[in-house]
Amino acid sequence: MNLGVRWYVGTDVHRFARHAAWSLFAVMTGAAACGPAGATAAAPAPSAGTVPRPDASARPSTTPTPSAVEPETTAVEPEPDPAPVSAFAHADLDPDNDQELGPPPPIADCEAKLAAKGVRFKSARIGVGQKVDGVPMCGAEQVVRYKRGPGDIEYSSSPLLTCGMALALADFELVAQEVAQAELGRRIESIDHLGTYNCRKMALYDLVSEHSFANGIDLRRFHFAGGKTADVLRDFRPDEDEPPEAGRFLRRLANRLFDDQVFSVVVTPYFDRAHRNHIHVDLARYRVDGSRPSQ
Ligand SMILES: [Zn+2]
Repeated sequence: MNLGVRWYVGTDVHRFARHAAWSLFAVMTGAAACGPAGATAAAPAPSAGTVPRPDASARPSTTPTPSAVEPETTAVEPEPDPAPVSAFAHADLDPDNDQELGPPPPIADCEAKLAAKGVRFKSARIGVGQKVDGVPMCGAEQVVRYKRGPGDIEYSSSPLLTCGMALALADFELVAQEVAQAELGRRIESIDHLGTYNCRKMALYDLVSEHSFANGIDLRRFHFAGGKTADVLRDFRPDEDEPPEAGRFLRRLANRLFDDQVFSVVVTPYFDRAHRNHIHVDLARYRVDGSRPSQ
């Protein structure tokens, strides 16, 4: 995923430029590189540093005022944060930080939380790379090597992830097993993935991906008990109304991962050619639903 490093420039022009840059990058490289363009973020947010929040007191009231002489000093209630919709939710729902870049902030007691979820892991370190205006463009300070989670799923290689992504992956496994059981009547034994951490700075428009922070994973193929597989390239078939049952599993899973807020961003072959062979999920500060055909 990518956003311009010149953050706090949240104009439509810059959003368009980032989108165009991503599209061009994807076309040029056929990128297995991952993440959608900022232009498609579900809710374009004002840049936190420059655009004042709308004045809540200026909004029309939906409840009639009991008296015309009500004092004007009534305090304006702050808007509550959006509530998570499921027990598996890890997505960043704050609309005010969508333009911020950099590694995710550390989570208090994260490794204890991982252990409580039944995750086997090892603490890990990855270097924090080049900084732009004091913000690292690579790496993260709280990283683990994920070994085995509560869904008892083996990975083609042990994912190296931010601790927050590891927490989300643990819940992802529970959701994925549920969908596999419902759609195929069998459990997932292993998953082939295409990578998690990849410190890269895309030259064009200085794009940065959540993979730069080990904060995303690319899911390519699911292996089920009994030998069946669901392969994104082979089975998703974004142009078909009725995919094979393995494709239906992949679509339902992607929908659930977004709708249950397991991840902030879920991108599938519906989104673009760069994602034809994998489902990209990450915990960016903005949300993107690429689990459905675009309208
Ligand atoms: Zn990716």
